[in-house]
Amino acid sequence: MQTVTTIAELRRHLDAARAVGRTVGLVPTMGYLHAGHESLMVRASAECDDVVATIFVNPLQFGPGEDFAAYPRDLTGDVEVCRQAGVDVVFAPSVAQMYDPGFCSHVDVGAASLGMEGALRPGHFRGVATVVARLFAMSRAHRAYFGEKDAQQLAVVRRMTKDLGFPLLIVACPIVRESDGLAMSSRNVYLGAADRAASTVLVRALRSACHAFRRGERDRDRLLERARTVLASEPRAQVDYVELRSENDLAELPPGPVAGGRLLLAAKFVDGPRPVRLLDNMSLAGDGES
Ligand code: AMP
Repeated sequence: MQTVTTIAELRRHLDAARAVGRTVGLVPTMGYLHAGHESLMVRASAECDDVVATIFVNPLQFGPGEDFAAYPRDLTGDVEVCRQAGVDVVFAPSVAQMYDPGFCSHVDVGAASLGMEGALRPGHFRGVATVVARLFAMSRAHRAYFGEKDAQQLAVVRRMTKDLGFPLLIVACPIVRESDGLAMSSRNVYLGAADRAASTVLVRALRSACHAFRRGERDRDRLLERARTVLASEPRAQVDYVELRSENDLAELPPGPVAGGRLLLAAKFVDGPRPVRLLDNMSLAGDGES
């Protein structure tokens, strides 16, 4: 496995791989890797000849006052996770390498970027779409791997890939959870002990609504109410949103009966070393959960 920090080195490696007909898989991350990221890399290495994992905390997707500077970083540990997961090249560029001083082109994705995270973090998906488009263009990967953990990001990336005509396949990977159900996230490290214990309320809220759906409840607002009631039982969770959207493009669903969909929620926990926002989501069909 090689670690490269420049676009030129990345291109050299991947051009050589493509020239002999090898398929390239891309796994974009912001590092501080955990088993969720690892699952994307393991899947990519099973499906592609060469896997490039990128580790880049992308300043464009953080708003003023967000945690860009405090985002956890551990390149040495990350390189080891990548090695174990079968990655061929780690691309860990500096900010200056990714964005030269004259950089001024951005990708704005429309409807998929509105609402939920897009409403709470103005400019966030513009930053995500821009860096992902750059990584697609510089890697010219055949497949790119994203987690369902960031379901709206996945919808934005799918839409952008289609709209801009990137010739690659987006592969969605299931959420990896801790044994108590909390979705793994690099930011979980900043949860204080009491908030960490309380944080399982997110998955409990999702499971409660999914359980109701499986027992026959079909009304959109009653399903949402199920999730909200569970969230309200945990005063440490400051809820940002709970939504039920259509499964693939996360379009809004009208009130009334639903045939299926994906529940998405976000909440803040503010009593630890730093405030932490957690996201989670689940298909009403249960994401394979029983
Ligand atoms: P991040 O480093 O948080 O930007 O995440 C990089 C990629 O890993 C994204 O596609 C995430 O959706 C994915 N990811 C993060 N956490 C998980 C998880 N718990 N399970 C599956 N995928 C994840």
